[in-house]
Amino acid sequence: MRLISGLKNTPSRLAILSVLEKGKYPLDALQVYKAVKNNTDLATVYRTLETFSENGLVDKFDLEEGKYRYEIKKKHHHHLVCEACGRIEDIFSNDVFALEKEIKSKYEFLVKRHALEFFGLCRSCQK
Ligand SMILES: [Zn+2]
Ligand SMILES: [Zn+2]
Repeated sequence: MRLISGLKNTPSRLAILSVLEKGKYPLDALQVYKAVKNNTDLATVYRTLETFSENGLVDKFDLEEGKYRYEIKKKHHHHLVCEACGRIEDIFSNDVFALEKEIKSKYEFLVKRHALEFFGLCRSCQK
């Protein structure tokens, strides 16, 4: 099991990290809570997810659901969210960095971060 550097490796933290590592798409706190089968309570899950996010272990996404989703840190990417079946897929593209460069040169605006997700219909929901 992977250990968390810079943080105390409590059993619930390790269990939550392991759930996030196995996650195929970003999970919300309730999904993490249900997957962690020991005696962790929901408040601890919320707090731990925030701690992980602050420490750069996970990325936090707002997919316009009125809650956050958390995903283990990986290569910079965005999501395709199907509004019919709820499927969430990762997409990897460098075009957004080109856009940031353009914004910098054209508008002299220093971009520090961006939030970009795509909403629509997945392949099977279009049929
Ligand atoms: Zn991005
Ligand atoms: Zn779908």
